[in-house]
Amino acid sequence: MAAIAEGLTLDEKALAELQGGFRGEIVGRDHPTYDEHRKVWNGSINRRPALIARCAGVADVIAAVKLCRQHGLPVAVRSGGHSFPGLSVADDAFLIDLSLMKGVRVDPEARTARVQAGVLLGELDRETQAFGLAAPSGIVTHTGVAGLTLGGGIGWIMRKHGLSIDRLRRVDLVTAEGELVRASADENEDLFWGIRGGGGNFGIVTEFEFDLVPLGPPVMAGPIFWAMDDAPEVLRFYRDWVADAPDELMTVVLHRKAPPLPFVPDELHGKPVVIVISCWAGAVDDGEKAIRPMKEFGKPVADACAAKPFMTHQAMFDPSFPPGRWYYFKSCDVPGLTDEIIDTTVEHSLRISSPLTSFPIWQMGGAVARVGEDETAFNGRNTAFTYNIGGSTATADGFDEEREWVRNFWSAIEPYSTSVYVNFLMDEGQDRVRQAYGARKYERLKALKRKYDPDNFFRINQNISPA
Ligand SMILES: Cc1cc2nc3c(=O)[nH]c(=O)nc-3n(C[C@H](O)[C@H](O)[C@H](O)COP(=O)(O)OP(=O)(O)OC[C@H]3O[C@@H](n4cnc5c(N)ncnc54)[C@H](O)[C@@H]3O)c2cc1C
Repeated sequence: MAAIAEGLTLDEKALAELQGGFRGEIVGRDHPTYDEHRKVWNGSINRRPALIARCAGVADVIAAVKLCRQHGLPVAVRSGGHSFPGLSVADDAFLIDLSLMKGVRVDPEARTARVQAGVLLGELDRETQAFGLAAPSGIVTHTGVAGLTLGGGIGWIMRKHGLSIDRLRRVDLVTAEGELVRASADENEDLFWGIRGGGGNFGIVTEFEFDLVPLGPPVMAGPIFWAMDDAPEVLRFYRDWVADAPDELMTVVLHRKAPPLPFVPDELHGKPVVIVISCWAGAVDDGEKAIRPMKEFGKPVADACAAKPFMTHQAMFDPSFPPGRWYYFKSCDVPGLTDEIIDTTVEHSLRISSPLTSFPIWQMGGAVARVGEDETAFNGRNTAFTYNIGGSTATADGFDEEREWVRNFWSAIEPYSTSVYVNFLMDEGQDRVRQAYGARKYERLKALKRKYDPDNFFRINQNISPA
C-alpha cells in the first residue's frame, strides 16, 4: 500500500495502473507543482488534497472516478477553482482537476459552441467573439464555465438572452459509476433538468454545448461613478430608471472605495463611491440613448460608460477580484429596492473599511424571468435584485473585521430576502442549500440524486443529500 495522505492509503498496484494509462498528470504531495495546483481563487482557503489528477480528457476522468469508487476515496472536482468557499479542493481528498481540458469548438453557422470543462469565461469569449457571437456567462473572465453554468450562470447579457443554462443544449457527464452519459432535452431529460442549477451533484460534466447569440463586438457599456454621499438619491433614481428597462439593458450596482484605475480621477482614489455599471446587449446607438438619463443624473464624478469591445467590458472586473486575495461572501435575493433596503445598503456601504472590498447588486429579470420556475433546477427566476455582499483583504490582516462587516450587513438585508443563488453561497449548510432551491424543488433534486448518485459519491459541493 502507498500512503498518499495521512491516514489514506492506496493499493500501489492501483495507483501504478492509473498512472500508467493516464494522459494527463498525477500530482502527489511531493511533486514540485503540488502547491501551485492545489491553490484555488479564494486565498483564505488552504487545503491539501491527497492527490491531484490533472485530467487531459474523458478517459482520464473515467479512470479517476473508477479508482476512487473502488477504493472509497473522497472526491473533489475542480474546473475554474472559483467556488467562493473553495468546494473544489478538500483536505486528503482525491482531486479530479479538469483545468487542462481547454477545447472550444465554435460552429459559426449553426451558432453553437462545444466547450470542455476546463475552459474559463474569457477563453470562451475569445473563441465566440471572433465570429461576433457569445454564450451568456458571468462577469469575471477567469471564472470557470463549468461551475458557473452548473449553478445557473448570471451575467451581462442574461436579461436579453437568459442564463448560461438557458442556452445549454447538451452535456457529456461521467456518472458516479464512471459511465459517460449525455443529457439534453431529449436524452436523460431528468438529468438535464437537474444539472441546470443543481451543480456538481450528479456527476462530472466533461463537455457543454451551448447555443450562441449574436453580440457586438462593440457594445455600449461601462461604469458611471458618484460620491457615496449621493447614494440615497442615485439608488432611488436608478430603481425607477431600471423599473421598465428593456431586456437589452443589464446593470450591476457597486459600492466601494474608488480604485486607482486609469479612468478614475486621482482625487477620488480611496474615497467611497457608488457605481452603476451598464451593458447594452444591442445596437450601440440605442444603448447610448437608453443609458443617457442615468449619465445625466446628479453629479457623476467619473464616467467610463462608452462603446467598447464586449471582451474589454467582460474583463472590467478582473482587477477587482484577482485570485489569491482573501474573500468572504453572504448573499440573498430581494424582490425590489424599497426605501428601507436602499437606506440599509447606504448605511452599511459607508462603513466599508478595506480598499479591496467591493460588492455587487445585480439587476435580474428580463429573459431570466420568462423561463418557467419549474423548467430547470435553478431557482429564484422572479427575483428583482441579487445582493452578493462580499468583503476582501489582501491577506489575513483585517479579514476578520471585513467578514464581520459582511455578516452584519447581510443580517440587515436578509429579512427582506426571498431566495439565494446557489453559486453565491459559502459553506452554509443544508438549510441554505435547501433555501437556494426552495423546498419543493429541493425534494425533486433529492429524488434525482437518489437515482444518479445514491451513495453521495459527489458530496464535496453545495450538497443535495440523497438521504
Ligand atoms: C471572481 C468571481 C466572479 C464570479 N462571477 C460570477 C458571475 O458573473 N455569474 C455567476 O453566475 N457566478 C459568478 N461567480 C460564482 C461562480 O459561478 C461559482 O463560483 C462557480 O462555482 C465557479 O465555477 P468554477 O468552475 O470556476 O469553480 P470550481 O471551484 O472549480 O467549482 C465549483 C463547484 O462546481 C463543481 N464543479 C466544477 N466543475 C465541475 C464539473 N465539470 N462537473 C461537475 N461539477 C463541477 C465543483 O466540484 C465545485 O463544487 C463568480 C465567482 C468568482 C470567484
